[in-house]
This record gives sequence, C-alpha cells and structure tokens, in this order.
Amino acid sequence: MARSVLSHPQEKERLLDYFESFVMQILNELATYGTDEQGGISRLLYSDGWLETQRALALKMDGFGLKAEFDEVGNLFGKLPGEDASAPSVLTGSHIDTVIQGGMYDGAYGIAAGIAALVYLRRQFGQPKRTLEVVSLCEEEGSRFPVAYWGSGSIVGKRDFGHVAGLRDTRGVTFTDAMSSCGFGEGVGRKSRRSDIGAFIEAHIEQGAVLETEGAVIGVVEAIAGQRRLQFEVLGEANHAGTTPMRLRKDALEGVSSMMQALRKEAVRLGDPLVATVGRLQVQPNVPNVVPGKVSFTVDARHVDEQALDSFCEWVMRTFTELADARQLTIQGTVWFQEAPVPMNDELKRQMDEVICSLSVPSKRMVSGAGHDAQMFAHICPTAMLFVPSRRGISHSPEEYTKPRDLAAGALVLTELLYRLGYEGEGLP
Ligand SMILES: [Zn+2]
Repeated sequence: MARSVLSHPQEKERLLDYFESFVMQILNELATYGTDEQGGISRLLYSDGWLETQRALALKMDGFGLKAEFDEVGNLFGKLPGEDASAPSVLTGSHIDTVIQGGMYDGAYGIAAGIAALVYLRRQFGQPKRTLEVVSLCEEEGSRFPVAYWGSGSIVGKRDFGHVAGLRDTRGVTFTDAMSSCGFGEGVGRKSRRSDIGAFIEAHIEQGAVLETEGAVIGVVEAIAGQRRLQFEVLGEANHAGTTPMRLRKDALEGVSSMMQALRKEAVRLGDPLVATVGRLQVQPNVPNVVPGKVSFTVDARHVDEQALDSFCEWVMRTFTELADARQLTIQGTVWFQEAPVPMNDELKRQMDEVICSLSVPSKRMVSGAGHDAQMFAHICPTAMLFVPSRRGISHSPEEYTKPRDLAAGALVLTELLYRLGYEGEGLP
C-alpha cells in the first residue's frame, strides 16, 4: 500500500484549506493578464497579455524553486529534478491561452493545480526520485490562428513549424511574426519535441454539467471522445409561398427538419456517451414568403467507441437519404472531419481511483466530450485526466466558475497521484 501525502486522515481539511488558498491565489493573479475590455479574458497566443502571463508564471515558478524554462514555441516548464536524472519525467499542466472572452479556469486551473502540487511536494518531501514538471502549454484553443494544440502538439511531434508557416490571424499578422515578436521560433530556446516524458496528468474543469448534476467532485476521464463532422446539402425547389399548394412543394427546410428530429430521436435511443448536434443551418433564399429551395447544415457526432461512431454516421447517411427521397429532395453528404477517440491509460486511471477512494472524495468515471491537450500526450506516454465541476456546465465564458473547495480537491488528488509516481517509485505503466 502506497504512503500518502496525508499522514493522518484529519489532515485532509487542513490540506484542502492550503490548496484552496494556493490555487485561488494563482488563478486570481493569472486573471489579471489578458483581460478583455468587452469582458472576460482574451489571452490569445503570442499576444501581449499572453506573453505577460507566461513571463509572470516563469518568475513565480523560479520563486517557488521550480526551475523555469521555455521551449522554442513558448511552452513554459517548471521543473523539480529527480534523483534519477535518466528516468522519464512525470509532467502535469494544461494550456495558458483562452478563447476570446473566456473565463479564468479553463486551462489555467491545470497549471495552478500543478504548481500547487509540486510546491507542496517539494516543501514536504524534498527531492523526488523521478523528475516532476509542471507545464504551461502555449496554445490549445485555436482562437487566434487556424491551428489547435500547438503547444502539446509540438511536444509530441504532431505539430511542427511547417504546419504554421503561412498562417495568418484575422488582422493579417503571420504566425511566424507573432511568435518571433514574443522571442520564440525555430531554434530559439530548447527544442519543443520531447522523448523523455514518462506520463502526463492533466487537471481541467469539466466544461459540462455532469459532475454538478450528480453531486460528484472529481471526474476520472475514461476517454476523450472521437468526433465526426458531416456537411449536408439538401436541394428542393424554391417557389412562391402563396401560390404553391402544399402537395406540390419540394421544401428543403421541411425535409431537413424531419432529419433533425430523426437524428435527435436516434441519438437519445442509443444514449450516453453518444451526442449529436446540428449546429449550423443555412437556408436559401431565407425569405419569409418563399418555399426554401436549398439548405446546408452540419452534424457533429461524438462517442468514445469508434465503431459505434461509424455505425451511427452510416445510419445518419442512410436515414437522411431515405427522408430526402420520400420528399423528392436531393441530398449530398460528406464527412469532412474525423478524430479517433483517445482512451486514457488504464493503470493511471486505476491509481487515480485508488487515490480518490483513500481521500474519500465523491467521484465519477466519465467521458470527455471536448478535446484536450491530454489527447496529444496520449500519443507518446501514459496519460490521465481529472475533471472538477463547472457551475451549470458553463465554460468559454466569463461566467465560468468552479467552487474553490472543488478546485482544492482536484489539486489534492493530483498531488497524491504525483507523490505516488514521483516519490514512491510506483512503476509507471
Ligand atoms: Zn481547456
């Protein structure tokens, strides 16, 4: 049985107090950088606010005795070197960038919790056996340039400078210029690509309402859902809304509404964790007194089981075609984006469950419907992810909120897990 960061169970409340104030202090400070005049935080990649934040974090890490170092794309690492310098590092952290007018928890929480954990472990137990690192990843959201997971992708070799050459933001600034204006770029600083990471653990807000609804405090992520995005175009006949009898119409929008109803019914029938959404609908000519002649729309479908996702998408194609045929409409559909589900590591999940059980925190195994940096790291090392509740499931908004006590519980679980991996010499999976 592994030792614990708690020498007595009574210490739990005291430790939660400690993590609560530590994590909140970092989050409150981070929230002062990249503030948006329109509300919330807009900390876009390589912006002034972004650079100030990373620099402030680097000073903070150094101040806490975690040696800070940037890599060439601007990922920031705070390192607690282990006795065995040749053993792969255990890495924790998340992304520092936000969406436009985002909140103060998405991404930032995983960094704050990681710093809190490492600082506590260092003070309490000194040097670990294995190197522990916290990372503030430069970018995940894809909010400024049309590239996402730039930070984690550069570390695992899924992104490189070739991917971003020629990209521009909405104001015409090139990716390369933005990067070099912050002092980063190819060959500047340590190479981003790493092959010495033994495990990655990410703490993150849930960005959904499952934990809150079920009264759980920690979500242990089973897998990050795979995605399919489909695009459809339905053609009917635009015609006069007053003179075309109902029986003679080829109403593309009426056809699409029947497809949307069928989609929802089937998704509800198949149940969790399948989700399916029609998020965009463009009607032509989109005027009140004309029967709609053409409708373009999207379907976003997600599931952790690739086969289930494929068979659902086949059902969608078949059913939509039948519904179109029955109305003498023509339909064309394509899958334009697909991403495979990413399971989290079984052994790390098991250890996290054990930690949660020993700390008596209400928890739940769950699926992440949203993408995260963890899915990049899973390509190169055992990876795990834990969620804390989001109030009303809201995220990517200034309304984002998690109770300080829940933030503390997540940090405590993370600390215990890092203790096992870094100090106990628990074999990494
Ligand atoms: Zn995030």
